[in-house]
Amino acid sequence: MERTTCVVVGGGPAGMVLGLLLARAGVEVTVLEKHGDFLRDFRGDTVHPTTLQLLDDLGLADRFARIPQSRISKIQLPLGPDGELFTMGDFSLLPIKHNYVAMVPQWDLLDMLADEGKSEPGFTLRMNTEATELIREGGRVRGVRYRTDSGQTGELRATITVACDGRKSFVRDMPELGLRDFPTPMDVRWFRVPRQEGDPEGLVGMLRKRAFQVLIDRRDYFQVASIIHKGSDAEGRSRPIEDFNAQLKREIPWLGDRELVRSWDDVKLLHVTLDRLRKWHVPGLLCIGDAAHAMSPVGGIGINLAVQDAVAAARHLATPLREGRLRREHVAAVQRRRWLTTVLIQGFQRMIHENVVGPALRGEIDLGDSARLPLPVRAVSRLPFLRRFPPYLLAYGAIREKPPKEALRDQ
Ligand SMILES: Cc1cc2nc3c(=O)[nH]c(=O)nc-3n(C[C@H](O)[C@H](O)[C@H](O)COP(=O)(O)OP(=O)(O)OC[C@H]3O[C@@H](n4cnc5c(N)ncnc54)[C@H](O)[C@@H]3O)c2cc1C
Repeated sequence: MERTTCVVVGGGPAGMVLGLLLARAGVEVTVLEKHGDFLRDFRGDTVHPTTLQLLDDLGLADRFARIPQSRISKIQLPLGPDGELFTMGDFSLLPIKHNYVAMVPQWDLLDMLADEGKSEPGFTLRMNTEATELIREGGRVRGVRYRTDSGQTGELRATITVACDGRKSFVRDMPELGLRDFPTPMDVRWFRVPRQEGDPEGLVGMLRKRAFQVLIDRRDYFQVASIIHKGSDAEGRSRPIEDFNAQLKREIPWLGDRELVRSWDDVKLLHVTLDRLRKWHVPGLLCIGDAAHAMSPVGGIGINLAVQDAVAAARHLATPLREGRLRREHVAAVQRRRWLTTVLIQGFQRMIHENVVGPALRGEIDLGDSARLPLPVRAVSRLPFLRRFPPYLLAYGAIREKPPKEALRDQ
């Protein structure tokens, strides 16, 4: 029989940060990741100031700085009939060390954490290993059954199982957890377009009648999120890709005559969901990150919320796990600590869905029509000091949690 102290299911941002912090705090931890690598395209890759500060605290700032990345400091919107770019938010106005959002491929961040974990004796990462079922005995979860990609199966027992396996978590259908789902008006198509000299920098929102895109500057290309009516992707895909490209050029005129998307295979669909568990824990089991609360892409705060959940979990669980005295209230404290932040951020996302995304998709908002700009846009365009508030919200989108002190390292 295999045994560890904490089994973490899922090697995404939540699972890798939790695994590393617990191992540094002297807890034996095994992370199971069903894929053989971290390479998955169009995953969240916005690293916010709260996570950058955490990397500093863990002594990883220099390693992180060596990963090729772009930095976003401006949020821009084209206003008026000429589409002149207007700065709606400027991170450089914030009085903090990391006054920008780092855009880093998620796999590079996860590779770095995995590599760092190797130097901790209590840390084990098992790739190609999928948790298939919880082991439940005597009214509590005692670990997981797993299967490897070569078909080998086994049981890994643990004092606590932490589900960090994302929004399709294998434990989410447990009735005790009570999944609550909120309707969303949109899905998102993700694709890349080449970037050229003279193109706008930073994060550029394009909002024209019934067309809504966000372009993320990735140095030599833009990662584009094109927001569409929920469920309308299939209809678009039945038409040739040339129609899609032509429409994109009409909606974003400065793309000019450059080559855009070659095939529908290069356009990935994100089914947007926004939900959360009423209860994040049962005896022997805790859910964090997207497994506890799937976030909308609005604000790009999913990674940071998952990371901050992991930091809070490590802080509450490390000492009792190391000393062999983990009780239910330690686990319940993690949800209590993270609940308000989750509810507030999801509330903000729902408000944006209802007041911006839904009306934009219905053609009720058009930034090209200066006479009908939404109130917040008019306010920021007239009162420049308001430009610091959108970055403030994004920068501190998640409350900053403090890691256990045993996990801290100097550079
Ligand atoms: C297309 C897309 C774009 C996004 N853009 C952004 C963005 O720009 N900024 C942002 O902050 N957020 C973004 N998000 C959201 C962000 O990626 C998530 O909120 C964040 O990754 C959640 O982290 P997590 O660790 O909780 O879960 P995940 O990142 O989902 O990680 C879960 C991990 O568990 C593994 N796994 C699943 N099931 C099992 C199992 N049974 N056994 C073992 N392993 C398992 C998966 O392979 C995965 O590696 C985006 C999401 C998507 C899908």
